[in-house]
Amino acid sequence: MEYISTRDKKASFSAANAIMQGISKEGGLFVPRNLPKLEFDDIEGLSEKTYIERAVEILSLFLTDFSDEQLVSCVKSAYENRFDSEDITEISHLFDGRYILELWHGPTCAFKDMALQLLPRLMTESAEIIDDKEEIVVLVATSGDTGKAALEGFKDVKNTKIIVFYPVDGVSSMQKRQMITQEGKNVTVCAINGNFDDAQSAVKSIFTDEALAKELKAANMHFSSANSINWGRLVPQIVYYISCYADLVANEEINLGDEINVCVPTGNFGNILAAYYAKKMGVPIGKLICASNRNNVLADFINTGIYDKNRDFYPTISPSMDILISSNLERLIFDLYENDDEKIKALYKELNEDGRFEVICDVKDRLLQEFYGGWCSDDEIEETIKAVFERYSYLLDTHTAVAVKVYEDYREKTGDDRKVIIASTANPYKFSSSVYEAVSGGRLTDEYEQIAELEKISGMTPPNALSELKHKEVRFSKVIERNEIKGTVKSILKI
Ligand SMILES: *Cc1c(COP(=O)(O)O)cnc(C)c1O
Repeated sequence: MEYISTRDKKASFSAANAIMQGISKEGGLFVPRNLPKLEFDDIEGLSEKTYIERAVEILSLFLTDFSDEQLVSCVKSAYENRFDSEDITEISHLFDGRYILELWHGPTCAFKDMALQLLPRLMTESAEIIDDKEEIVVLVATSGDTGKAALEGFKDVKNTKIIVFYPVDGVSSMQKRQMITQEGKNVTVCAINGNFDDAQSAVKSIFTDEALAKELKAANMHFSSANSINWGRLVPQIVYYISCYADLVANEEINLGDEINVCVPTGNFGNILAAYYAKKMGVPIGKLICASNRNNVLADFINTGIYDKNRDFYPTISPSMDILISSNLERLIFDLYENDDEKIKALYKELNEDGRFEVICDVKDRLLQEFYGGWCSDDEIEETIKAVFERYSYLLDTHTAVAVKVYEDYREKTGDDRKVIIASTANPYKFSSSVYEAVSGGRLTDEYEQIAELEKISGMTPPNALSELKHKEVRFSKVIERNEIKGTVKSILKI
């Protein structure tokens, strides 16, 4: 399998190269030149297998330079005994053909674990394949879920170090507690005075610091990134859509070949893009419903063909979707433009210079054919959590609630009543403050009180991974200024 860049399709790369490099040198994203295809027979075959077996089989279609042993070892160490569900993901039939695909049974209680448990293993095997012996230093700026999931994924992985920076004012108290108590010999967590943009720009300045890169090289190390533009983060996400379809067939909820819709709460466009790829590979998926919160840049794009990030940024109660530049959208546009790399270069130059671009009519038509874009407000999120809990005794987190609300709007507007997979991206206890407020109307400031009260109301057991944090030792309490980041990185790496 050959990989190409969305901004230069002439050169080709192996999967190991694409994963190690993360982003291509002219700023494009790596994509397979052609997607592998699945026949109905293949899907039927998968329905008899475990999640781990399915993952190995599907990954082997994409990561053709990895041996079977390498893939089995990566997948097993990522998923075996690390999730609180034997099936890795769970499907809850909410009502009347609405299937909630719970992707948050991993160690950090958010769907990022599905990819970030596997990525570190894929990276170290990729290094072996291309004979790169340098130590990998992963730098992350996080607004919450990515940082913790990356820490858990890279914890004690050989030949890697991970350093996570979070904005001291920009994460929830539970997210902060998850990070400052992180275990592992190769991890460091550090707060930066300021908001997420401050943390992100400080980390970017480190990535592009040539002098520092030289010093690192001399010490036999190089930087890498764990954010969602890496192909190694996207490919594990394709697996669960195929796997979910196979499960619905195996459980006789649908017949092989029946078309179903998929609805995804979207931020950086990684999760829903994986569903689009699953469809292109041959999974019978109808409409892809892209659900945004008040930062509705994607809903507008799908409906108008104009991507415009020149707008106010709103902090919402679904913070992991608070984003104005959805990086993975570039991969979709590249595909809709039938791999026209020159066109993508031009569009992204416009985005860089003017903060907006518009796609041609043909592409607009195809967008609307494949996707539906909708969004909802914080009030609607709370109303949805409350209504679903009261009617079905099922607790949604604030992100999944966006998807449920936008899906119901879609169904009402179009009358399309095909069955639907709704991606559920976080355990409700991870956002217990907003979820508690939604179901009780009350407000509590202490996160453990919120958890205890929510448990009383819902009867749902809180995940161990969150409850046990209360008793864990705080390991990382340092707060630095933005201009201290370089010195901090050097002292952590002892260079
Ligand atoms: C990251 C995240 C999202 C958004 O996923 P994308 O792949 O960036 O679109 C949604 N919900 C939760 C809980 C997340 O952590």
